[in-house]
Amino acid sequence: MNFDFKKSLGQNFLRDNNIIKKISDTIDSNKDDLIIEIGPGAGALTKELVKKESDIICFEIDERLKSVLSEIKSDKLSIVFKDFLKINISDYINKEYKRIFFVGNLPYYITTAIINKIVFESNPYEIIIMIQKEVAERFMAKPNSKEYGSLSVFLQYNFDIEKISLVSKNCFIPVPKVDSMVIKLKNNKKTGIKNEEKFYKLVKDAFKQKRKNLRNNLKNYNLDNIEKILNSFNKDLTYRAEEITLDEFMEISNHID
Ligand code: SAM
Repeated sequence: MNFDFKKSLGQNFLRDNNIIKKISDTIDSNKDDLIIEIGPGAGALTKELVKKESDIICFEIDERLKSVLSEIKSDKLSIVFKDFLKINISDYINKEYKRIFFVGNLPYYITTAIINKIVFESNPYEIIIMIQKEVAERFMAKPNSKEYGSLSVFLQYNFDIEKISLVSKNCFIPVPKVDSMVIKLKNNKKTGIKNEEKFYKLVKDAFKQKRKNLRNNLKNYNLDNIEKILNSFNKDLTYRAEEITLDEFMEISNHID
């Protein structure tokens, strides 16, 4: 492809048809659904997605891709040349859809910002994304592993996360430094949280300094209260956040003032 790839925009385009097909097959959408693709690039995945019955909206920041993307002909497809992080998602949804699927081979440096935006500004049914392998491992990490952090807890609270495929860096042009993984985040917000803001803050604070224990990281909280709840799990304030499960964080957050 004769294109001046911009590293600053995370432009590593997919060139492996099996992977493209696999991502597309993961989306079981129909005519009542909407697919939102973030960063279509030269349209490798978009060309596969337009074979479905669903409407598709793509957000691409780089206007140099206008001519190549305009070659994809479909009346279900609209392409918006804007920074996904700066748009208001609902401004572009002008119909009632049953389910909204988000998909994209995401620029690595804004993966978390994109997911945060989707979670807080829309109601996704599923998010199917290709991201750096190490980041995907953090998303799916379980307690007592070094990858487990506040992001793992936040995402696993909101979604069931499934690995779809490992993707070698050789499947991209230009070849990036790292391998990737396709994962599916299925909306399944856990119930039973009294105050979500408190829960998010607690988790963030608990992991503030990963090597410190809960007594240190949560010193601005009512520690007697927290200790009581931890004791009910046979744990105490000498434990570190990485040893606390999602259910336990939820329970603690329901008992702090
Ligand atoms: N989907 C294509 C593929 O798999 O071949 C391209 C993927 S490439 C990793 C990421 C794409 O996201 C690039 O086309 C880049 O220009 C675009 N992009 C980067 N930042 C963006 C942003 N903030 N909003 C929308 N698109 C963005």
